[in-house]
Amino acid sequence: MSKAKYIFVTGGVTSSLGKGIVAASLGKLLQARGFSVTIQKFDPYINIDPGTLNPYEHGECYVTDDGAETDLDLGHYERFLNIPTSQENNITTGRIYHNVIQRERAGDFLGKTVQVVPHITDEIKNNFYKLGETGKYEIVITEIGGCVGDIESLPFIEAVRQARFELGPNNAVAIHLTLIPYLKAAGELKTKPTQHSVKELLEAGIQPDVLVCRTEHSLSHEIRSKLALFCNVPIANVIESIDADTIYDVPLLMRKEKLDERVLSKFKLKHKHEPKIDLWKEFLGKLKNPTREVSIALVGKYVELKDAYKSIAEAFTHAAAENECKVNVKWIQSEEITAENIDRYLKGMSGVLVAPGFGERGIEGKIEAVKYARENKIPFFGICLGLQCAVIEFARNVLHLENANSTEMNKDTDHPVIDLMEDQKSVKNYGGTMRLGAYDCQIKKGSKAYSTYGHTRIQERHRHRYEFNDSYRTRFEEAGMIATGTNPDTGLVEIMEINDHPWFIGTQYHPELKSTVLNPHPLFVRFIKAALVHQNEVK
Ligand code: GLN
Repeated sequence: MSKAKYIFVTGGVTSSLGKGIVAASLGKLLQARGFSVTIQKFDPYINIDPGTLNPYEHGECYVTDDGAETDLDLGHYERFLNIPTSQENNITTGRIYHNVIQRERAGDFLGKTVQVVPHITDEIKNNFYKLGETGKYEIVITEIGGCVGDIESLPFIEAVRQARFELGPNNAVAIHLTLIPYLKAAGELKTKPTQHSVKELLEAGIQPDVLVCRTEHSLSHEIRSKLALFCNVPIANVIESIDADTIYDVPLLMRKEKLDERVLSKFKLKHKHEPKIDLWKEFLGKLKNPTREVSIALVGKYVELKDAYKSIAEAFTHAAAENECKVNVKWIQSEEITAENIDRYLKGMSGVLVAPGFGERGIEGKIEAVKYARENKIPFFGICLGLQCAVIEFARNVLHLENANSTEMNKDTDHPVIDLMEDQKSVKNYGGTMRLGAYDCQIKKGSKAYSTYGHTRIQERHRHRYEFNDSYRTRFEEAGMIATGTNPDTGLVEIMEINDHPWFIGTQYHPELKSTVLNPHPLFVRFIKAALVHQNEVK
């Protein structure tokens, strides 16, 4: 059995309490104390991964270096811990069943009835332990998606119970994140929902070691004692998680509540040193004391749900702190944009970002937004579909290739400037078949991309099927839109820039996925810098 220590984080009362942020914050503190930590998430839905889910269902799909399409909480883990996650860090019920059923078909259980207990729970436990068994981590945090009491969470909760039993009391900690609602009319915080949620956990055989209580108001000593008494936890293990100005405050708030110390003392682990979080504090200082503001338009079709562009929003936050400015993101629904009304949406913006996406809806508005930024020399940043829109716009309006398009939007276009590569044409299944994960990119010296990265060889993450159609490359380059980044193995175009423009860059990859608090992404940092320059010029 692995030597790692395991922390299990469950949630109660309601979803959306920020389990991912609490897990990432705890991970950050333990890492800052010198422990090697990883965080994994187990999701109770049947999809093998969230890759086939509409962003309205589940927010952004976060992609790892090794090409896993995962839950957006993995983005928080990476942004907080500054280390990459992988296929192993996100497991769904669908994946668990898939593995078990494959083994059943292979005859691994010959003669036996395959059941939820023990076969499904065993498979869950194997996956709980997998990362710990690599020997790379001293502490593995496991976040269980959903709420205690949900039908679909039951096998996971049972697996946590068994894992705690197998690991022994000093090797496993159960943290339960819950809500303490405030009743305005009564002027009181209420503990009853938490008592019920803990009771539910107890029924499943799990006594939580620590309660993390989401609340809008500070927990009094009286409330803490009440929670301690009725939930069977020492009062020091009743941790307040008060609403914060920014998610990046949460590690410091958890530190103040001594969450990390409580966990280490349960593990009987010697403290290596106090958490080293100076750089984190420096980042927060800059984030909270901006010297100026800048407005950026984010043009996308899922703007009603901010989680759909989570990593982009966070990359802006990192770049804002780096530039000591406040970035005001104006979320614009691309479906509403037309040639006639675009001025109303983009006038006064110091930068325009056209977001990733799939399908035809909203595409013409995105193309109008590119045109506006190109013609008015507003800093422009296109990501994935955003780059593809920039290519289509340039083809139509500069190269005069009438009705140029991506074959994703119009299969019969006369000018397929964005097209499927041969290896994608035969793909029949949707799940996990895009160009996914990290690929090398060779950057041309003298380009803006080069001055941004400071290297000629970079690696960035992808999630798309369509690519720039290389047969048009010469025409684009002769007219001033240059491929400044290409894949060294396949020659695929990864970055395009317009020369005759203060800052116009499109990337086929998703730079936002690699921006972290301690390593803000250089493209976002430079984009904001360019926007600040633009803002000064138009003043
Ligand atoms: N729909 C486009 C493609 O599949 C772009 C995808 C994206 O923006 N992530 O190539």
